[in-house]
Amino acid sequence: MRVRFWGTRGSIATPGPGTVRFGGNTSCVEVTTSGGACFIFDCGTGARPLGAELMAHASKPISATILLSHTHWDHIQGFPFFAPLFVPGNQITVCGPEGSGHSLREVLSGQMEFTYFPVEIDQLPATITFREFGEGTHEIGGARIVAQYLHHPAMTLGYRVEADGAAVVYLCDHEPFSDTLWHDHPASSHAESIVHEGDRRHARFMAGAGLVIHDAQYTPEEYLSKKNWGHSTYDYAVALAAVAGVRQLALTHHDPTHDDAFVEAIEKRARGYAEQLGSTVRVCCAYEGLELAVEPHGVRQLASTPLAPHSALRGRHILVVDDDPDLRALVRKALSQDGHIVSEASTGQEALALIDAQAPDLLVLDLLMPKQGGLEVLKVLRSRPATAALTVLVLTALDDEANTRAGFDLGATDYLTKPFLIPQLAARVRACLSRRG
Ligand SMILES: [Zn+2]
Ligand SMILES: [Zn+2]
Repeated sequence: MRVRFWGTRGSIATPGPGTVRFGGNTSCVEVTTSGGACFIFDCGTGARPLGAELMAHASKPISATILLSHTHWDHIQGFPFFAPLFVPGNQITVCGPEGSGHSLREVLSGQMEFTYFPVEIDQLPATITFREFGEGTHEIGGARIVAQYLHHPAMTLGYRVEADGAAVVYLCDHEPFSDTLWHDHPASSHAESIVHEGDRRHARFMAGAGLVIHDAQYTPEEYLSKKNWGHSTYDYAVALAAVAGVRQLALTHHDPTHDDAFVEAIEKRARGYAEQLGSTVRVCCAYEGLELAVEPHGVRQLASTPLAPHSALRGRHILVVDDDPDLRALVRKALSQDGHIVSEASTGQEALALIDAQAPDLLVLDLLMPKQGGLEVLKVLRSRPATAALTVLVLTALDDEANTRAGFDLGATDYLTKPFLIPQLAARVRACLSRRG
């Protein structure tokens, strides 16, 4: 399995110069199996860049399973910004704990009501399926998913994903069940020495895992005044991972008040504690972009992922060609918001003249225009060496096969059918630009 971290912050997104190394986005971790199944632990703000990355590399409709620990803000706020939801044909399954008075669908719809967000959940074009989980085992995408309740003020689930002969366990947000972890000195620790059955069960849940991703929001000193807030300390996570024979422990849900230097200090203390316990568990503090391969005999760190090169996907020159002024205005507004420089043309002839003067990075081209239609413009562009490879996103109300094929035969990069939603357009433009390199 390949694991990528997209959000490692707890409570609230915390961007800024102090959190550059470990990241400011809230909880989101992607797990991909060798069979191609995609699991997403939580949908904090890290789900936005993850969605953009999935869209940029999608060669076919996206199918993904979101495993929500619970529905506190820092675990769902990225959901409305997860671009694959805006594309018809994509299949997104959302799993999460049942029973907090409202259904999972109701809770996620709540944060997308018109007062809070412009697109309601029913308007999302992807096929979305909701599955409410209690404790138990499920088979999804060739993987075995085990869910177990955690100790948190809300109904919260931990997940164990078993595939490719290895296990990844996600335990966020969770607090120790008991103040006293051990009957005797930790150095002699084994699972039976754990005082509280809840903590013992928690340790058993991670037994033998290649990778455990665990809440470690507080230091032991801070925890004294944060009891019952539902979060762990690094020493609790390290102790249980050591007892459970875990290979690698990634501490996450970093507190918003902890800057990079502070988190680094926690990592050092946590490693020291593992050593003190005589454990071989490898400990790190998770950061955005960390990428691990979890294999049957160990965990390898892959070259740190350069998180989607968004800088290259901003500030591009985009020419919009459409005879409908309202549509041009809409596209201009949407793409300007994404940091692009947008110019307009109302006819094919005007567009060709503008392109002659300065070729844009991307052409958004309407298919049906009076006089010179989009296909004719495309034909001219492809016949000229300077624009033979120009990236072209075709807008059309005609999504029948003959028209689509004619466009692709002439080298259209992608098609977007009218009417479309602004996030759909933004996602397709991002995909076109990233394909272009
Ligand atoms: Zn949280
Ligand atoms: Zn929470």
